[in-house]
Parts: sequence; C-alpha cells; structure tokens
Amino acid sequence: MTHTALAGIAFIAGLLVGSFLNVVIARVPAGLSIVRPGSRCPRCGHALAWYENVPLVSWLVLGGRCRSCRSPISARYPLVELLTGGLFAACAVRFPPGWELVRAVLFVGFLVPLALIDLEHWVLPFQLTLPGAGVGLLSALPLGTEAVVEAAIGAAVGFVFFLALEVGLRILLKKEALGAGDKWLVLLVGAFLGWRPLFGVLLLSNVQGALVGGVLLLTRGRAGPASPPPGAPATEDGWTPGATHVPFGPFIALAALELFFLAPWLAETFPGPFVGLITGMPWAPP
Ligand SMILES: [Zn+2]
Repeated sequence: MTHTALAGIAFIAGLLVGSFLNVVIARVPAGLSIVRPGSRCPRCGHALAWYENVPLVSWLVLGGRCRSCRSPISARYPLVELLTGGLFAACAVRFPPGWELVRAVLFVGFLVPLALIDLEHWVLPFQLTLPGAGVGLLSALPLGTEAVVEAAIGAAVGFVFFLALEVGLRILLKKEALGAGDKWLVLLVGAFLGWRPLFGVLLLSNVQGALVGGVLLLTRGRAGPASPPPGAPATEDGWTPGATHVPFGPFIALAALELFFLAPWLAETFPGPFVGLITGMPWAPP
C-alpha cells in the first residue's frame, strides 16, 4: 500500500474516531455514559439517524443545524472530526504500518479529548488520564523491554516533576498556578513518549502558553479574576477563571504532539545540542 493511500485511510478512520471523541468531550465532564444513549440534539433531544451522524458530511449537508428543531450545532463537532482525521493521517505519515502506528493513534485519541475538555471546563478527568497512562505503558510492551523502561521512567519523571512544580508554585505564589490535573496529563505523555522529550514538552508548553496568555492580556485587558467571562465554569477547587486565563493542559498536549510529529525532522534539520535537548533525539558532535 502506498503512503498516500495509508494516510487517506488513516484520515477517514480519524474522522470516525473524532465523531466518537465528540461524544467523549460532551459527556465525560458531565459524568454521563459515553455508550448510551446514542447521539442526540443537545437542544431538542432528537435522536440522530445514522445519516445525520456521518462525520463532517452531515454537519455540512444540514448546514450546521439540527434537522428536527433547526437550532445551530456547534462547529466544534466537525472541527474535532477534522482535527482527529488530520492527526491520524499525520501518524500514518510518521510511522509505517505496525505497532508504533497503533500506539500513535491511541496517543492522539487520548490527547484530543483531554485538551478540549480542559479548554472548556478547566479539568482533566481521571477517567481519561489514568486509562490513557495505562494504555501508554501497556502498549510499550510489544516494543520490547527498553521501550517499557523508557515509558515507565517517562511517566514517573513527568508526574513527580509536575507534582513538585505544582506544590512549589503554590508555596511561592500562594495561589493555584498549576491545575491539579496537569501532573496526570504529563504522566500520560511520559508513558507514551518516554522521558527523553519531556524537557522539550515542558519548555514548549510554557513558551506557547505564555505567548497565548500575553496575546489575551493585550486584547482582553488586565489579568486577574476581576472579570470572569459570563457563565465561566468554576473549577473543582471553586476558582473561577478570568477572561485572560488559559488552562495549561491544552499547551502540554500541543507541545507533546508537536514534538511527537516533528522531533525527527527538527533533529535532522537543525542538528545541535539545544535541539537535541528539546527533541530528546540523540545528538553527537561532528
Ligand atoms: Zn434539535
């Protein structure tokens, strides 16, 4: 099978998985079953027939509206499908058919809902982070002892470092600077990627998070909890995010995906000790 054909199949599979991830994103934070009932219009409860539930296509054909009550359906649904399809295709470009490809789509399948749930609800549900970390560790088994050891060290190092960071920042800043769920997300990332790229994940997530935070600060005004956006959900610990606050989880996921897909290219294109440190790819002086 050609590479293009494989990427195409992965894209279609990603659209279908993305459709399921939409259900996960909508229901897990609300504590609802992801199996039953079938997909419904959130407004009128109209149960979707299979042809109203075809990824991407149905949303486009129905003009982004429920067929029964005509109320608009969020563009998030087709976008999550498209995103998952694109990432699955990227997995197929990065890895030849085999176990590493399976592991790659599993990684994407956990990161996409976690990032989007955190973005909306400021929470990284244990129902996703813990099974995700377990899958990351177990799926290393077929790759051999070395891979399992790397995964276990990655999970442990990531978790302990973020736990220390969370506690340290709480003592230093006397407020919650890092969500309690972030360390569990890093546990998952470490379990899938091993310990080598974790420093890069930490650095990239902070740089990109600071950039976005800075832009929000410039466009939406001063930081601080003075002006929570209307209807903003309070987090578990009763804290309400302000208009210029951003959750950190999506940036961890973004940095992890960037390094996951681009590390070999980066290491080859910009060889050097710094890129070696960021990507976790071995670099030897010429
Ligand atoms: Zn409806």
